[in-house]
Amino acid sequence: MPSWYHDRTEVPSPRPPPSGRREAAVVIVGGGFAGLNTALGLAARGVRDVVLLEAKSIGFGASGRNGGFVFAGYSLGERALLERAGPERARALYARTVDAVNLIRQRIAALAIDCDAVDAGVVWANWFRDQAVLRSRQRLLAEHYGADWQWIPEGAMHEFVRSARYHDGLYERNALHIDPLAYARGLASAAERAGVAIHEASRVRMLERNGPRWVLRVGDAEIETPQVVLACGGYLAGLDRTIDRAVLPIATYVMVTEPLGDRLRECLRTRAAVYDTRFAFDYYRPLADTRLLWGGRISIRDRSPRAVQRLLKRDLARVFPSLKEARVEHAWSGLMSYARHEMPQVGTHGNGLWYAQAFGGHGLAPTCAAGEALADAIAAGESRMAMYDGFGLDPVHRPFGYLAAQGTYWKHELGDWFKSRLEG
Ligand SMILES: Cc1cc2nc3c(=O)[nH]c(=O)nc-3n(C[C@H](O)[C@H](O)[C@H](O)COP(=O)(O)OP(=O)(O)OC[C@H]3O[C@@H](n4cnc5c(N)ncnc54)[C@H](O)[C@@H]3O)c2cc1C
Repeated sequence: MPSWYHDRTEVPSPRPPPSGRREAAVVIVGGGFAGLNTALGLAARGVRDVVLLEAKSIGFGASGRNGGFVFAGYSLGERALLERAGPERARALYARTVDAVNLIRQRIAALAIDCDAVDAGVVWANWFRDQAVLRSRQRLLAEHYGADWQWIPEGAMHEFVRSARYHDGLYERNALHIDPLAYARGLASAAERAGVAIHEASRVRMLERNGPRWVLRVGDAEIETPQVVLACGGYLAGLDRTIDRAVLPIATYVMVTEPLGDRLRECLRTRAAVYDTRFAFDYYRPLADTRLLWGGRISIRDRSPRAVQRLLKRDLARVFPSLKEARVEHAWSGLMSYARHEMPQVGTHGNGLWYAQAFGGHGLAPTCAAGEALADAIAAGESRMAMYDGFGLDPVHRPFGYLAAQGTYWKHELGDWFKSRLEG
């Protein structure tokens, strides 16, 4: 199910799988943002002989299909993060994603990555009349995280986002939106220029221990290395049971409309990306050629493009009734990986096997932060990894975990529906 991102650009020349036997200093499995950021981080720290293996093509997974919002924070909300990690560590963890947003911006410029970056912030639009949720998040961010999100009163909100669905909003200025596939491909090219060997169509089918080293098998090829990083997100690697069974793959959906011309401007008078305050929120952003990219829903089911389109068109018409008849040209789904604690799992078994996964639906900045932390740890033994302690590899107990996740989703969806009805 190719995304609009895949369809609109030329497919880069494939990078052939490895052959024969070889050795490497570090092998990274997974060509999404977690793997690519780690590869680039290692190369930047002078580590030579890094190999990255991707089962399909660079950005095939969530990284090349997502909404393209680059913003701070994690899937776990800031209040829950504060409760679970305590004030000091929560602040440091959050700050790491702010640094990552800045690093992504810098990399796009320094590496001249042509990914349609729009540095215009992100709006959190209030679906409800009740202002308390916005006010309390704004206060929490300012007091505990040093983040200054601006309040947008209802009148101003309707100037920017012309939908009767919303009331007021919050504006996160230090955020951007990008074509994530173009960005992933740009990172891959930069990593290659820095000496990383990248192989596509290279599913690692076996990982085993040979004395103090690891052996990875890809087709008939064999790579031996002291350090392996598993970064396979919701597209489970199937190589280490403890790592695989700690995440739940969850689907979410995106579609792109035809170019809307003036109809887009009638709905959106901002270049910022927008999402709303419900648990199962809509998220969308204007594209350069007046298309609208629209995403939403969370499901344990990976639906067909036609089903995705049907669901999302209904959501779009609820927010912008004037776009009810807009033609949808692309619709697709992607798998996110969730841990029970909703935070990334970044760490090591202590025997040269590292992992970076469970970035959920909020992965662009956190994968960048994780790549930097892993690169530091592997290259210099420096331990910024301790920051992620306490967010470990708790098993998700598939298939029961799916039922629990679906139950939670329905519960929150129903809660939001009731709140909406009560407000009239
Ligand atoms: C539809 C959608 C919208 C989203 N929107 C946003 C957003 O707007 N902003 C945001 O911050 N986050 C968003 N996210 C989340 C974000 O995309 C992810 O958190 C992030 O991309 C995860 O990166 P990753 O590298 O961990 O996983 P992935 O990008 O999924 O990469 C994993 C890779 O591992 C490969 N692989 C698996 N097994 C093997 C194997 N055995 N051998 C070799 N390779 C293997 C897969 O082929 C895959 O390419 C969204 C996610 C989805 C699905």
